[in-house]
Amino acid sequence: MDIDFNKKASSEALSDSKKPMDLILVRAIMSCTTCGKEKKFRNQFLRKDLELMVVALKVFDWMVCNKCGELFRLDLEFRV
Ligand SMILES: [Zn+2]
Repeated sequence: MDIDFNKKASSEALSDSKKPMDLILVRAIMSCTTCGKEKKFRNQFLRKDLELMVVALKVFDWMVCNKCGELFRLDLEFRV
């Protein structure tokens, strides 16, 4: 089942996108399970732009600890 994303987004942009409640706060916490090093990132996305969040999170896929080379664990917190 395909959804025409562009058409949906443009029709919703006029009515919904200005509401602050459409904003989702995302906090990504990277932590090294070996040495305990932590990095935190924060970003916010419009609900209709959640695809952008997925793209942004891809960056974290390959992140490794610069202290011990271990792959970071990724925890996400959402606040709507
Ligand atoms: Zn480490």
